[in-house]
Amino acid sequence: MLTTEMEHEQEYRYVPFITLSELKPRIWITLSDCNFKCRGCFSIAREPVGEPMTVEQLLTLAKTAANEYYGDKQLEEAVITGGESTLNRHYLVDLVSHLKEFVAWIVLDTNGYFLDATYLDELIAAGLAEVVFDLKAWDEKRHEWYTGYSNKRILANIRNAYGKVKLVVNTVYIPEIVDNPEIEQIAQFLAEIDTNGEIDYRINRFRAELSPEQMSRNPYPEEIERAYSIVTKHMKNAVIGKSCVRERQIEVNTGWITVFPDGTMKRRTLDDYRAENKRRNK
Ligand code: SF4
Repeated sequence: MLTTEMEHEQEYRYVPFITLSELKPRIWITLSDCNFKCRGCFSIAREPVGEPMTVEQLLTLAKTAANEYYGDKQLEEAVITGGESTLNRHYLVDLVSHLKEFVAWIVLDTNGYFLDATYLDELIAAGLAEVVFDLKAWDEKRHEWYTGYSNKRILANIRNAYGKVKLVVNTVYIPEIVDNPEIEQIAQFLAEIDTNGEIDYRINRFRAELSPEQMSRNPYPEEIERAYSIVTKHMKNAVIGKSCVRERQIEVNTGWITVFPDGTMKRRTLDDYRAENKRRNK
């Protein structure tokens, strides 16, 4: 077992907040801290922020907030995200198995580094239905430069996950860093695995104004369109998405409810979230 994994085998994870969707009964659970140090990361949850919470405390918070906001409606979906969701294996398996008691569809959002075959099988047995891999780059050196880690394990873990769960792969388009040649090679890799046309491949836009490092600019719409058309040469299910972490789930003009560890709730819009990130990166 790697040192980074052992360090995180504790009975709690730090939770800055959980989030409720205004569109449908759906909840995001944000587990902070991450093994990667992506140069373009704008998630506050990259560091261990929030309150340390056991699985039991987190479930109580989630159930109470969902009951208060959605009433009797069953939760349709729970997305476990971060930071990095997989840092603590026992914690995550326990969380998924208990969520399964009251949520229909459970999704894991991950950089994929730790999610090997055994770990994934445990999560599936616990009730996991979908995995969203954030694949940062195709070229190994580029991936190392961007995240601090090789992508070899991640590519193997994506290959292994195929056919076991609903599979989504995301890449952030970063002009001159992760652009068409990278995106095309990832699409070719996925197409080779995806014999049944089941993988969704989503291209997200880099958001320069939210990034802590001034390493690139926002992609132009035509660049994203071009990347999309390149992917469609190889894959059936290409999608243009929004930026990484929570934003991609949020549609413009809708808000969401942030629930803090002490149970207080606050409605935030996408503009609020952007403003907070800007302040944080100053
Ligand atoms: S972008 Fe995701 S994987 Fe990368 S450091 Fe941020 S939270 Fe971790």
